[in-house]
Amino acid sequence: AFELHDVSKRYGSLAALDQVSLGFPAGSATALIGSSGSGKSTLLRVLLGLEWPDQGHVKVDGHVLERTQVLELRRRVGYVIQDGGLFPHLTALGNLALLPHHLGWGRDRIRARAEELVALTHLPPSALDRYPAELSGGQRQRVALMRGLMLDPGALLLDEPLGALDPIVRHELQDELKHIFDQLGKTVIVVTHDIAEAAWFADRIVLMRQGRVVQDGCLDDLRLRPADPFVTRFVEAQR
Ligand code: ATP
Ligand code: MG
Repeated sequence: AFELHDVSKRYGSLAALDQVSLGFPAGSATALIGSSGSGKSTLLRVLLGLEWPDQGHVKVDGHVLERTQVLELRRRVGYVIQDGGLFPHLTALGNLALLPHHLGWGRDRIRARAEELVALTHLPPSALDRYPAELSGGQRQRVALMRGLMLDPGALLLDEPLGALDPIVRHELQDELKHIFDQLGKTVIVVTHDIAEAAWFADRIVLMRQGRVVQDGCLDDLRLRPADPFVTRFVEAQR
C-alpha cells in the first residue's frame, strides 16, 4: 500500500503537487490521468523516493518513507519512469540483468526470464544485445517495461508504459499488462493520457490538474458525475 499525506512538491514558485492526500491500497489498481504538467510523474517519483516532498509525507505499507529505505523500496517495486531511464552504457539485457544479478540470480535464469518478457512484449530478440541508443523509442520503452517486470514484483508503478508504441503493439500490450495487473495481490498505479486505457487498466481513475486531485472515482463517475467542468472537458476531448 502507498499513501500520500498532504504532500506538496514545489519547483520554484510552481506547485507540481499541491497538498495531495491519496491512498493506494495493497492489491488495488489505479490509473492516474490528467493534462500534461498536472503532476502525475511527480506523484510517482515522490512515491518512489526519487523526489522528496516539501511538505507532507509518504507511507509505504503503513510506515513513513525514510530516505534510508528508498533503495530497498525501489528493488521491491517494479517501476517505469517516463523516459525509461535505461543505463546508456549497458545493453538492453545488461539493463534487465542489473537488479536480478544483484540479488544473486545466475546468468541462465536471467536470460530465461528476459526471453519470457521478450515474448510478452514482442520485442525483436536481437534487441536484447543492443544499447539503448541503438533501439527505437518504442523498443526502449518495452525494455524499460521489461525491467520493471523482471522480478514479478507485487507492486508496479508505471509512468506511461505504452506511450511511445504504435497502436497495434500498444493494444496487444494493454492485454498483456492487464493480465499481469490482475494477478492476485498486485498493487498497480499506472499513468496514462488515455481515458479508455485508464478504464481498461483500473476501475479507479484519479484525474489530476495543476498538482491537485480533481476527481477520484470510476469512469462513470467522471462521465456522469463530473466534479467540475474540467472533468467534462477532459473526458469529452477524448471521444
Ligand atoms: P506529462 O503528462 O507531460 O508527463 P505530468 O503530469 O507527468 O505531465 P510532471 O512531470 O509531474 O507532470 O510535472 C509537473 C510540473 O512540475 C510541470 O509543470 C513541470 O514543468 C514541473 N516539473 C517537473 N519536474 C521538474 C523539475 N525537475 N524541475 C522543475 N520543474 C519541474
Ligand atoms: Mg509525466
